[in-house]
Order: sequence, then C-alpha cells, then structure tokens
Amino acid sequence: MAGGWARDGAVSEQIEASISDELKRMQARQKPVGDSLTHCADCEEEIPEKRRRAIPGVKLCIDCQQDRDAAFKPRAGVNRRGSKDSQLK
Ligand SMILES: [Zn+2]
Repeated sequence: MAGGWARDGAVSEQIEASISDELKRMQARQKPVGDSLTHCADCEEEIPEKRRRAIPGVKLCIDCQQDRDAAFKPRAGVNRRGSKDSQLK
C-alpha cells in the first residue's frame, strides 16, 4: 500500500496537467483570431495596413467597428449609473 505522501504528489501532478491542458485550449482558441482580414467582413471595404497592424485579428473596417461600438454604448451607460448608486450606499 502506498503512503499518504504519494497521494499528495499525484494530486499536484494532476493539477499541473489540467492547467497546461487549459492553456493549450486557450491558445488553440486564440489562434484563429490572430488572422487579420485585408477586407472588412461586413462591407468588404479594404482595411488599412496600419489598422491591421494595430489590432491583431481585426475583422472590420473602422466604420463598421464604430457602428458596433455605438450599438453597445447605451447599455454600458445604464450599468455605470447602477454601479455608482450601489457604491454610495
Ligand atoms: Zn466595413
């Protein structure tokens, strides 16, 4: 029969294995994002090289990106107000 100390070693080995496994999964997920498009995915406008270098994995031209950003802003404003109130309490 193995002693308790052997079990501890096995557990930490398992934890390290699951961490490296998770890292591999994350890296695999990030790889497709690394490919920048030369033309916008929405309107097929050419994306300037400066923008492609500045944003790895860029998929949209400036106009389409701004449209998407603007669509998300109203909700963020409401959330900020709500968190301010809760901080004052
Ligand atoms: Zn576009």
